[in-house]
Amino acid sequence: MYKVKKYLSDLVLIFSFLFIGSICFYLYTNGKSAEVRDTAVTVTEVPETFKYGFNEAGHFFEDYPIKRNAFMGDILMDRGIDFDRILELEKKAEKVFSLRKIMAGKSITFIKEDECEAPKCFVYEPNPMSFIRFDLSNEIAVTKVDRDVDVCMQSASGIVTSSLWTSMKKEGLDARLIDKMEDALAQVYFDQSQPGDQYKLIFEMIYVDGKPIRSGKIYSAAYKSDEDINYGFFYANDKYSGYYDFEGTPNKKTFLNAPVKYSYISSGYNPNRFHPILKRRKAHLGTDYAARRGAPIMAVADGVITKRSYTEGNGNYIKIKHDDVYQTQYLHMSKFARGIKPGVRVRQGQTIGYVGSTGLATGPHVCFRFWKNGKQINHRTENFPPLNPMEKSELPTFFKERDNLMQELDEIPFKERNMAYAGFSD
Ligand SMILES: [Zn+2]
Repeated sequence: MYKVKKYLSDLVLIFSFLFIGSICFYLYTNGKSAEVRDTAVTVTEVPETFKYGFNEAGHFFEDYPIKRNAFMGDILMDRGIDFDRILELEKKAEKVFSLRKIMAGKSITFIKEDECEAPKCFVYEPNPMSFIRFDLSNEIAVTKVDRDVDVCMQSASGIVTSSLWTSMKKEGLDARLIDKMEDALAQVYFDQSQPGDQYKLIFEMIYVDGKPIRSGKIYSAAYKSDEDINYGFFYANDKYSGYYDFEGTPNKKTFLNAPVKYSYISSGYNPNRFHPILKRRKAHLGTDYAARRGAPIMAVADGVITKRSYTEGNGNYIKIKHDDVYQTQYLHMSKFARGIKPGVRVRQGQTIGYVGSTGLATGPHVCFRFWKNGKQINHRTENFPPLNPMEKSELPTFFKERDNLMQELDEIPFKERNMAYAGFSD
């Protein structure tokens, strides 16, 4: 009897909870304003949208990040795709985009009609320009879909507040463009930029499906400081390719300022220096550039590799002969770049090795040495001969091209130097 009573009281308890619950639900749904229900009506008018060719309204899209050492076969089997179909998919994919090329760290997107069903397709994007569709329903198919790519000309201008880099970043320009600006205007020493310097440029912007993805080539650029104005015009044909100034002189330095980007001088050229490791006075006939370990070391000019060697003091080092007058040497490398050995021709800016601290070195840096007629010199105080100018016969064609680019550049005004820039802080 007691048991029945307990059972009944439990029932009462359950029902009362249900009753209170339904009242709450009623109050909640009716409590919401009439607007909510009104918007529910307009939802049906939203146009259909498609993702990877599938109607977004009728499909589930599940992003799946690929982990290291994961096997596509295992991932697919976990999702209910049987072994024979995986083999067939693997075979068909081989001709379009091998499953082995799907990289860890990236994602694939599974597409299902019903959340609980096996996926009817998955998609991988190797780059923003295209995607690969692996269809798993009925007939297995692998297709590469190229997206709509547009290249548009864009312009930008700005004023330097602390450095060109921070100013361009502030203008929303991507890091590649900042690097390219240094190529376009290689004659300008951007590390000596002054607050108030003005710049403008015309460049390509690559759009995929109407969205800007990244910047392309710079066509023209101008940089104005208190002293002068420098121009860079892109000019290319079968004989010439690169940036030239207003007169047609190549915007290139005979030698790069430093063999490593984003480095700083930790010890300058000093014929009478106290050596930190040897603890005695020893001439330092090089310039030390401190940089992060593994940073690429560049050839400062075109030339031929004459030495790739190791000594206790120098560690791993490379020597380059540029012409009959100049040679350069790069010390303490962690390793050499692939293919770099005596007899190999290198171009200015080419990676020849990586920053390290092999040999007699306290931390990761490049000891950079410069020879002129067999004698070590301080390259930072040397006046180098200018690069060969453009041939006279080429100039009329160049000037025509330059004038076109100049006209476009003139249409962009320099940003005004107003009082807001008087404080120059950022
Ligand atoms: Zn040194």
